[in-house]
Amino acid sequence: MRLSDDVLLDVMARFQAEMVKGLGRDTNPTATVKMLPSFVRSLPDGSEKGDFLAVDLGGSQFRAHRVKVFDDGKQSSQLESKFYPTPKEVIQGNGAELFDYVADCLLDFMETKNLKHKKLPLGFTFSFPCKQTKLEEGILLAWTKHFKVRGVQDTDVVGSLRKALQKHKDIDVDVLALVNDTVGTMMTCGYDDQRCEVGLIIALGQTGNLSALAPTCTGTGTNACYMEEMRHIDLVEGDEGRMCINTEWGAFGDDGALDDLRTEFDRELDLGSLNPGKQLFEKMISSLYLGELVRLILLKMTKEGLLFNGKVSTALLTKGKIEMKHVSAMEKYKEGLSNTKEILTELNLFPSEEDCIAVQHVCTIVSFRSANLCAAALAAILTRLRENKKLLRMRTTVGIDGGLYKTHPQYAKRLHKVVRRLVPNCDVRFLLSVSGSGKGAAMVTAVAYRLAAQRKQINAALAPFLLSLETLREVKNKMRTELEYGLKRETQASATVKMLPTYVCGTPDGTEKGKFLALDLGGTNFRVLLVKIRSGRRRSVQMYNKIFAIPLEIMQGTGEELFDHIVQCIADFLEYMGIKGARLPLGFTFSFPCRQASIDKGTLVGWTKGFKATDCEGEDVVDMLREAIRRRNEFDLDIVAVVNDTVGTMMTCGYEDPNCEIGLIAGTGSNVCYMEDMKNIEIVEGNEGKMCINTEWGGFGDNGCIDNIRTKYDKEVDEGSLNPGKQRYEKMTSGMYLGEIVRQILIDLTKQGLLFRGQISESLRKRGIFETKFLSQIESDRLALLQVRRILQQLGLDSTCEDSIIVKEVCGAVSKRAAQLCGAGLAAIVEKKRENRGVEHLQITVGVDGTLYKLHPHFSRVLRETVKELAPQCDVTFMLSEDGSGKGAALITAVAKRLHNVGQK
Ligand code: ADP
Ligand code: MG
Repeated sequence: MRLSDDVLLDVMARFQAEMVKGLGRDTNPTATVKMLPSFVRSLPDGSEKGDFLAVDLGGSQFRAHRVKVFDDGKQSSQLESKFYPTPKEVIQGNGAELFDYVADCLLDFMETKNLKHKKLPLGFTFSFPCKQTKLEEGILLAWTKHFKVRGVQDTDVVGSLRKALQKHKDIDVDVLALVNDTVGTMMTCGYDDQRCEVGLIIALGQTGNLSALAPTCTGTGTNACYMEEMRHIDLVEGDEGRMCINTEWGAFGDDGALDDLRTEFDRELDLGSLNPGKQLFEKMISSLYLGELVRLILLKMTKEGLLFNGKVSTALLTKGKIEMKHVSAMEKYKEGLSNTKEILTELNLFPSEEDCIAVQHVCTIVSFRSANLCAAALAAILTRLRENKKLLRMRTTVGIDGGLYKTHPQYAKRLHKVVRRLVPNCDVRFLLSVSGSGKGAAMVTAVAYRLAAQRKQINAALAPFLLSLETLREVKNKMRTELEYGLKRETQASATVKMLPTYVCGTPDGTEKGKFLALDLGGTNFRVLLVKIRSGRRRSVQMYNKIFAIPLEIMQGTGEELFDHIVQCIADFLEYMGIKGARLPLGFTFSFPCRQASIDKGTLVGWTKGFKATDCEGEDVVDMLREAIRRRNEFDLDIVAVVNDTVGTMMTCGYEDPNCEIGLIAGTGSNVCYMEDMKNIEIVEGNEGKMCINTEWGGFGDNGCIDNIRTKYDKEVDEGSLNPGKQRYEKMTSGMYLGEIVRQILIDLTKQGLLFRGQISESLRKRGIFETKFLSQIESDRLALLQVRRILQQLGLDSTCEDSIIVKEVCGAVSKRAAQLCGAGLAAIVEKKRENRGVEHLQITVGVDGTLYKLHPHFSRVLRETVKELAPQCDVTFMLSEDGSGKGAALITAVAKRLHNVGQK
């Protein structure tokens, strides 16, 4: 019975394997350790408050409790309890009688405490093995202990209790949680110490002797629960967060896994028990059995003449005669041998002093083995927790309840010591649960209550982000209306979707060639490019580019400074490429709304995104660039075209696929262009052919037409932006703003106390900290919650596991809405193209660029799905553009140059 540390480490490994087996879908049916999901997903966080009821059935006594919890920051609570008898006719009668009795007792309790008028949530501690499918539902697997009520097994005990309570019209009690006593212990301790994530019961078991025990005794003498990662729990849907698992570890070894460690005494005890072959681990640990083990050992030693002069007394032959309380008393070394002598004398054993010493020794060996085995299994749980958290060292707390642990003189000390030796990399605090399982059930209920209230608030905050198909259809229709306004002469001036003609009238035909310069201004980076286009059989495009930073003070300084800076960058590039002397044709990708009168003239309508240089709006950007070149007086350039990035994107894809007649950007900003029939463009002369229209759809909604779907968060983002009231659609759909919307929601949820413990940190206050790339990372399916927490940590946001789930949900809501709105807009465009062509079915390609589209894990899919749903008659192919703003600008320049030359000839 003496187990070395090597053996204990081996037991620990076996238990670890058994836990894995219990968690696996396929292996669970044959696992001995059942690993029952408890549906308790959160520990108390200290913000619980309210008045709760609990009933506790299945422990040593039947009790009703009232627990008041205060969120005063001091984790204080008040507990009032009342005990009720459990008459034999009730616990061995039928189900309806049992639950009626429980309801009657509760009614009595509420009357005594003057609570009848109150609507109260109730937690039900029911310490029998139950298969739960929800927090408030549990199917009884089997009665244990001295309970044997007919018609309850395989039914939902919460439902039965509810039914019984409903018979009392004068009380209003809502059963919110079904709780196992181990879980209750963890939750009680978790209220005082938020690190608590393990619950352990080492109960004294029933008082009285063994023979009085249950007909089918599989009592919860010892058991443990802990917080497991959802992704490891096959039996419950979902991968996020954690859930408390009730291990039911007493059955460990029932498949023979511990046979090499079981002694002849263990076997004998088992054979003489009421459930032979079952609960073998429990039988080596629980106080229900330790006294009996001691008796069997003493009996054998006496029979062999090693004790009491070989005289066996009738008492020593009687099952259950030595109880745990005797073992505990005999092990009180401080009191010498007097206890031992007294107890043995009572058993008619007439001990000598040597007998007393030997018996004391036997008691110690038996109870020490119990502590050792318990420690080994607990060490396995702790190791699993640490590995789940991917930590090298872990600090944690184990909540403990149970008579053996509390009353035995050495048990606790031994258990702690062995655990610390077996898992040296865990700093474990052992916390005694003060008011037991009743308070635990109330705590579970309090947490469930808090979570339900929080869930309601979170859902309410995110509800405006859920757009119905009908709403999306409405958005599509409104977009269509605005597109028409922008094209019509009378309405065009006041239209919010400006529908700017680009004077790009054809897509490339493959004969383009030459060397071109391109500028790309308006995205995250400013770039200068050299593009070499070859035609014919060696058709290809080669590009060289250099990225230059545009400092914020220049982006938001004067126009002259901005353009001088641009020309400075061009000079650097020409120098760098060694082409300063060549007067190359240049295409200027300028991704802001420009009113064009020809391909090389563009008047800036207004800055968008992060730009706000003065004296530019209303000016021709090509002129400004030319003047800056002249001011520098170092080189000359032939500015052929001013190009929007959407057009560049369409042209780049059009170079590969002639069916590409739409360009879409989902990056920092959001915009679309498409080839429109000349006859529909009223503000440009001529009715023949097509021209590309830069929709500038980001301004959609600036007349208030989509204000019905804008949330207060959108309004806050808008108000804090450089261009309040403008680009409302863009602010709901593009990379520059999504993170900011998320930040606004997080602030609001934090203010409501739903996140980050209600503390708005310095970093959360910082505009722009929540970049859209973090949305992509957080929403990535492959990312475990732990990594989400690391990302938040990097942002200076200290999150709990629950926080990170909420943050992920918020990100999901914001990016999904963005993709859907963008999809609704695009559906309007493709539908228009279909009608222009007058076809039943349209085949069309959309060239797409933008990091949001390319890197976000869900954006592109949701966008495509929405288009499919809203424009079912269009078969849309999405083609990723590679560097549309560079290559596209060069292609447009090449086409313009070709047409120009033709014109001159
Ligand atoms: P631009 O639109 O500025 O020309 P991009 O298409 O590269 O350039 O888009 C850049 C924008 O994309 C950034 O401003 C940011 O909002 C967003 N973004 C950056 N990284 C990611 C990412 N990993 N996932 C989603 N969006 C991102
Ligand atoms: Mg870009």
